[in-house]
Amino acid sequence: MNLVSPSEPGNVSGTLAASPPDLFPRLEPLLMRVSRPVQYVGGEINAVVKPWGEAVVHWCLMYPDAYEVGQPSQGLAILYEVLNERDDVLAERSFAVWPDLAALMRGHGIPQFTLESHAPVAAFDVLGVSLATELGVTNLLEALDLAGIPLHAADRGAGDPLVVVGGHVATNPEPVADFIDVAVLGDGEQAVLDLSAIVAEWIESGRAGGRTAVLERLAATGKFYVPAFYDVDYAPAGDERAGQITAIRPTNAAAPATVEKYLLERLDAWPYPKRPLVPVAETVHERYSAEIFRGCTRGCRFCQAGMITRPVRERSIDVIGQMVACGLEATGYEEVGLLSLSSADHSEIAPLTRELADRYEGTNVSLSLPSTRVDAFNIDLAEELARNGRRTGLTFAPEGGSERMRRIINKNVDEDDLIATAEAAFAAGWRQIKLYFMCGLPGETDEDVVAIADVAARVVDAGRRITGGREARCTISIGGFVPKPQTPFQWAAQADPETVHRRIQGLRDRVRADRRHSRAITVRYSDGWPGVVEGLIARGDRRVGRVIEAVWRDGGIFDGWSEHFSYERWSRCAAEVLEPLGVSLGWFTTRERDRDEVLPWDHLDVGVDRDWLWDDWQDSQSELTVGDCRWEGCSDCGVCPMLETSLDLGPTGRHLIPLTPLTKAA
Ligand code: SF4
Repeated sequence: MNLVSPSEPGNVSGTLAASPPDLFPRLEPLLMRVSRPVQYVGGEINAVVKPWGEAVVHWCLMYPDAYEVGQPSQGLAILYEVLNERDDVLAERSFAVWPDLAALMRGHGIPQFTLESHAPVAAFDVLGVSLATELGVTNLLEALDLAGIPLHAADRGAGDPLVVVGGHVATNPEPVADFIDVAVLGDGEQAVLDLSAIVAEWIESGRAGGRTAVLERLAATGKFYVPAFYDVDYAPAGDERAGQITAIRPTNAAAPATVEKYLLERLDAWPYPKRPLVPVAETVHERYSAEIFRGCTRGCRFCQAGMITRPVRERSIDVIGQMVACGLEATGYEEVGLLSLSSADHSEIAPLTRELADRYEGTNVSLSLPSTRVDAFNIDLAEELARNGRRTGLTFAPEGGSERMRRIINKNVDEDDLIATAEAAFAAGWRQIKLYFMCGLPGETDEDVVAIADVAARVVDAGRRITGGREARCTISIGGFVPKPQTPFQWAAQADPETVHRRIQGLRDRVRADRRHSRAITVRYSDGWPGVVEGLIARGDRRVGRVIEAVWRDGGIFDGWSEHFSYERWSRCAAEVLEPLGVSLGWFTTRERDRDEVLPWDHLDVGVDRDWLWDDWQDSQSELTVGDCRWEGCSDCGVCPMLETSLDLGPTGRHLIPLTPLTKAA
């Protein structure tokens, strides 16, 4: 199958670089002494090992977590292919190494390495890091240190890799500003090609002007954020705004006052991944994932992903069909995930799922659709998918326990609709429904959280009514809410963990006291302390970088893993670093901001208008909702005019059948 590729700028050519050493002969004897050694070996199906000397720009793509978490990263898989399709660019991958191997590597002088050629990460021209979660930042520092790359960007020279971060955490890269050279906002596909072209030119010039020259060229595009070219001013002690940012100023003529995000207008032009890598060790997802659209305009006020990926851009049904066929052929996977922020909202989701189910009926291929939409249509889809797969539990996400709470967060789910959907699911044969909620939302009371128990009891009753028995079950899964940048709740106070824990306990007590339902309801909640650190990093500024460094120097790594996370360490380091500066962990997390406060990310523009976000924040407090612009008209969030684009929606009326003849992907 020939999948279309995006138009590419001219390939870079020329300068041949000497190959770096292969570290594997030195690494191999150590692997028998560590846990899960296979994750460090490489050699996966579809891995690309290119001759080092034929590339001008050498990328190391890193996901700062263990292989089992990072390997399935869709972002990494896409950029790996986009870069390796270029003749003169090479991309390899690296993941966080576990502490057992890290200790041995330090003892034997072996640096952070890539999986493809086991080359030292420091030998690459660009280290591109996907920062998907706030708690991954200590692993970034660990990787830089293990690689022998100076921790602080200011200490790096022309021969050191450019450290570039993207991913959702890059929406506010200020807490890692001291450790990175460049941050990229938005879609990565075109960004990595543009960056490669600029770096190639610089390399071919003999790195003329040193590191500053290439950073200036990147900054001058207006789309690559170079933190070193900006100064941050803070209000002094004694001022009524003491501790707050008063200005973020460019200090280099090449740096714009505001940096814009990258946006792909036509997803069909970028049908990646075509040939994703098949892991050699067990990972969290083992399936072919096709992204069916990007962006979301439902307007849930807590959802950073929805806000920063606007506007909606759909991939057309026939391209999705080609991607799935091609991806399965290239990998041998037997599961397909149709991904997006709200997959049931694709304008052609019904024919897409029906035709995919038809195509793979009778084979071992099963389809999955991570969808949280609460309506009967979702049950139709689930039934379609279950035709050729397992009838697993269904998950819906009302997010807020009461109607009032759902108006505040703009999650327009009516409880009667939820019950009708549950009835349809039980009637169709499902016996277990999972409901996802958040706790600690702005404006929330204890009663709003306790009300979750009543919703779950109604779901169980619906199941018993439909099945005529008592086998219906409901699992309540709760996450602690963390306010995120570039959302209407970016000004909100984060609930302290004691409050969240008290409310969860109240919910558990209510479930337990309800003898008729308690055995059919399970409450799942993991503790709220990591959420405090997530909140600190999500809305932190450059001063928080010193906390991150102190935590890492104190031994903090793998903070996303409960067995490694230490709240005691984070709160101690935060107190040591922040209190002399007149701020604190609580100042960054549980403090409500006002309209005039300069937020650390105000100079980074993801397209959504700041005034629109503020008005939406005010509306939330009045329990006013806003409609989805796909169906209810534009609400002037500012994205489309600012980015000179529009919603890219179907239906196109195209079909998957007859099939496009299959040939191998390029
Ligand atoms: S500008 Fe209007 S149409 Fe475009 S994403 Fe925003 S609300 Fe929707």
